[in-house]
Amino acid sequence: MECPICGSDDIVILNSKQKSSKKKIMEEYLLRCESCGHVFKDMFSAKKPEPYRLIISEQDKSHKTTIELSPSDELRVGDVLLSELGQVEVTSIEVGDKRVKKSKIEDINTIWANSVEIPARIGFSVDLHGDVDSYKLDLDRDFEIAPGDVVKIDKHIVKVHVIKTQERKLTSGFAKAGIIKRVYSKPVKFNNFDYDLTKDIVKKTHRE
Ligand SMILES: [Zn+2]
Repeated sequence: MECPICGSDDIVILNSKQKSSKKKIMEEYLLRCESCGHVFKDMFSAKKPEPYRLIISEQDKSHKTTIELSPSDELRVGDVLLSELGQVEVTSIEVGDKRVKKSKIEDINTIWANSVEIPARIGFSVDLHGDVDSYKLDLDRDFEIAPGDVVKIDKHIVKVHVIKTQERKLTSGFAKAGIIKRVYSKPVKFNNFDYDLTKDIVKKTHRE
């Protein structure tokens, strides 16, 4: 922004007003040039946000949704958007029938993105004297599990014995779900438990 009189870009905003019509948001500024003292008005307008088609990949599923974006903005692969499923990173932009790396938003048909809030998927085994109930769980990556924890899972109350991480087997300490491969547990005859993982189960298998 430059002063129309002296061309200086040393401008201060004295006042601003926002007006909004059906399709546009208009901002009217009262400005002063700090070099020559000239006071003038300027207008900026942006199109109002509209819904765009967004497809979010999350592990082996994909979710179709929409996201409100301002048509006048630009979008690039790698940008992070806040969707109804949390933060997502744009992986591809579809304009017409082409995939592009960046585009003005008003030209976009579909935005493809990956969830960057993917939970950690871990295995959880309950040793039933030879038979095994084996679960897949989706947990927050920061969720901590420790050997000795007493856990409710499905119809079992179990104690965690061993945690297998990407690098080793733990029988003490703790590990965050983000690095856990599998938790091994055995039923205990308690009524109380430290936490309940039942709601985090995505799959159950029973082995004999
Ligand atoms: Zn000036």
